[in-house]
Amino acid sequence: IFITIEGGEGAGKSTLIEQLSNTMVQKGVPFLTTREPGGIPIAEQIRSVILDRGNVSMDARTEALLYAAARRQHLVEKVVPALAEGRHVICDRFVDSSLAYQGYARGLGMDEVWNINSFAIQELMPDMTIYMDVSPEVGLSRIAGAADREVNRLDLEKRSFHEKVREGYMQLLQNHADRMVRINAEQSSEMVFREVLTAIERRFAG
Ligand code: C5P
Repeated sequence: IFITIEGGEGAGKSTLIEQLSNTMVQKGVPFLTTREPGGIPIAEQIRSVILDRGNVSMDARTEALLYAAARRQHLVEKVVPALAEGRHVICDRFVDSSLAYQGYARGLGMDEVWNINSFAIQELMPDMTIYMDVSPEVGLSRIAGAADREVNRLDLEKRSFHEKVREGYMQLLQNHADRMVRINAEQSSEMVFREVLTAIERRFAG
């Protein structure tokens, strides 16, 4: 089973992934957790080209292509082999991030961004996608509390941008209700985790 976790800044994706990992360790279920962009050396390098560039600007299409390239390499090098070995894969971000951030919020168009991503992933889509929904106010204030996040990320992506990202995700939820589920991530991490477990059980029941 391939599950992806999506959400804006400060949504609590990392905490959720830790909780899911602990549960699977306890149950003795073989699994792998990973993240995008990154997860393997080439993709981490691409991540760094995109995210650690200081004030140097980057063309939106270049950015979208780099995310897709990182995704491709991560998929073939890490995700596909793990699934082939019968492990569950939980991935922090996947194609929906590109659709919401670059396609919708940056204005490239979801269809256009889907096209380059469909080239990259060759139809390997997650079985389930959990969207951790927080308002930008809550998400950004959580991050401001986390001291070691790069400051320029906050400059780069102000509140209005995050509103747009959220709108993009909402659109994806409407169009992909079969695979995507929205979780209210403003609740306590315990509540979030409980709702996620219920959603996973429901999705894969029978
Ligand atoms: O999930 P994480 O916080 O590690 O994401 C890293 C950064 O990359 C975030 O600032 C996120 O907004 C950004 N990002 C993006 N477009 C994507 C994926 C991530 O702008 N397609």
